[in-house]
Amino acid sequence: MSKRSSSRRSPRQSVSPKGQQDELWQQRVELFSEVTLKIRQSLQLKEILRATVTEVQRILRADRVLIYQVLADGTGKAISEAVLPAYPPILDREFPEEVFPPEYQQLYSEGRVRAIADVHDPTAGLTDCLIEFVDQFQIKAKLIVPILQSLNAHQNAARPRQLPQQNQLWGLLIAHHCDRSHPWVEFELELMQQLADQISIALAQAELLENLEEIVESRTAELKEVNRNLQQEINDRMQAEDALRRSEEQLRLITNALPVLIAYVDDRQQYCFNNQAYQNWLGQPPSAIQGCHLQQVWGTDCYQRMQTHVEAALAGQVVTYENEITLKDGRLHSVNITYIPHRDEQNKVKGFFALTSDISDRKAIERMKDEFIAVVSHELRTPLTSLHSALKILATRRLGTLSADGQQMLEIADENTERLVRLVNNVLDLQRIESGEVKMEKRAYSAADLMVQAIEAMQPMAQQHEVSLETQPVNIQIWVDSDYIVQALTNLLSNAIKFSPPGGTVRLTAQVEKAHALFSVHDQGQGIPTDKLESIFERFQQVDSSDSRKKGGTGLGLAICRKIIEQHDGKIWVESAIGKGSTFAFTLPTLQA
Ligand code: ADP
Repeated sequence: MSKRSSSRRSPRQSVSPKGQQDELWQQRVELFSEVTLKIRQSLQLKEILRATVTEVQRILRADRVLIYQVLADGTGKAISEAVLPAYPPILDREFPEEVFPPEYQQLYSEGRVRAIADVHDPTAGLTDCLIEFVDQFQIKAKLIVPILQSLNAHQNAARPRQLPQQNQLWGLLIAHHCDRSHPWVEFELELMQQLADQISIALAQAELLENLEEIVESRTAELKEVNRNLQQEINDRMQAEDALRRSEEQLRLITNALPVLIAYVDDRQQYCFNNQAYQNWLGQPPSAIQGCHLQQVWGTDCYQRMQTHVEAALAGQVVTYENEITLKDGRLHSVNITYIPHRDEQNKVKGFFALTSDISDRKAIERMKDEFIAVVSHELRTPLTSLHSALKILATRRLGTLSADGQQMLEIADENTERLVRLVNNVLDLQRIESGEVKMEKRAYSAADLMVQAIEAMQPMAQQHEVSLETQPVNIQIWVDSDYIVQALTNLLSNAIKFSPPGGTVRLTAQVEKAHALFSVHDQGQGIPTDKLESIFERFQQVDSSDSRKKGGTGLGLAICRKIIEQHDGKIWVESAIGKGSTFAFTLPTLQA
């Protein structure tokens, strides 16, 4: 028996003439590549091992070929086998340790090959127990080639040539002849070595594949997670969009149902939203108006009337004003417009909400009412004047003497007629100013002159009420209609006297404040409650409804004053403290202004 070791790449022995040798060599190369191809057809290690043992057995005509895997603890077992039916299989049998001692393992790790032609030949050096073991399986000759596994194969695959190759014994490729001893030839050794190398490669590839599978698995898991998140995001977004669509639909439903123009205009004065009423009023659908500039929608004339209000809204003011617009019916309509600025988180105005309602009907009714009042008042004034004159004549007793009761009745009739005349005159005054029927004839006047005129006119009434009138005329040049300003001053003075206690003082002053003349009428009367400070400037508004009877007022004096002052581009207001008195103040432009 011969025990021989060879390097992994032994040179071929030249045993035949040159031509024969080349042919044989060519046959072997073809055979190797054919076997290599066969065993590489699978990526599955098990399949590869199976193909290897089958092919080796076929080519070497061996009785048994097996692959023995060395386990981590030094033991091992046959994991693949091709054996002729006549001989007992070794597959899955564990080899006892004494059969495969550590020193053998060490030799195989270094790549040694063992070729034993006859196991019973004492020169083969097999121990008794090993001979006993091989006899069990009827082994006569055996060839053992180590299968080495590169330890850092997959790292080197990722970064070629970076780590030195380290090998460890993975297993053995073993061929047996069972019916006879067999001197192993070079070709057999080479085939076995080549195939052991192929198994090494397959092992490295299997490891790589396993690694790749792990990477693919983890990437797939990551991608699945990303996909899940994406799907969630899409669902959330769809839900949000759905909610938005529903709330938009609701908003449209509500705004479209209202018979007023509702819009949102951005800071470039372009429509971003407008309701259905635009179509009913202007004949253009909301989509045609969206994105259009205000001027495009309303035309130059109308836009000029709205421009300052639009600018005020974009400057952050809430604006309410009246305008006249031509609608699709071609008629001019009066409208009330409100702009409410829209601010962002930084408090910057981004645009404004615009609300426009048709007030043509209300305006028409107001006009009819005013005309009616004007006509009635006018018609009343003539008979009232003659009635008043007749009563005055009767009071002179030139036409006869009345009884004491008759005289008293005459005085009551005279007093009430006077009140009626005042009321009619006030109504006519107010109506004329409001309708723009009267034009203010403005000229330059000294405030002092007007103050003196008003004080003189009110002196008799003050004496009658035992109230003293004080003034410090100031020579401020103002640009006014003197008659109307004197009328406003006398109205305020008359109220101040009326509501002052006997012995009280009423003071009229004037001063320059900024570009205005500021007039004040101060009294020491009963004062006005805070909640009435605004409303008393409205028509027929009195603090106490009995004031008109007790004080002989009409509830129109302050409304007239406000109209007069507004016609002069001034403002009027009152400050008051209950029980202490009131101060009515108004501003008028100075001549310079
Ligand atoms: P009237 O003809 O009733 O005085 P006005 O319009 O001039 O009508 O005044 C409206 C109401 O305002 C008065 O009825 C009174 O209640 C209140 N008022 C006006 N001036 C004064 C004042 N100086 N002191 C207290 N109340 C006043």
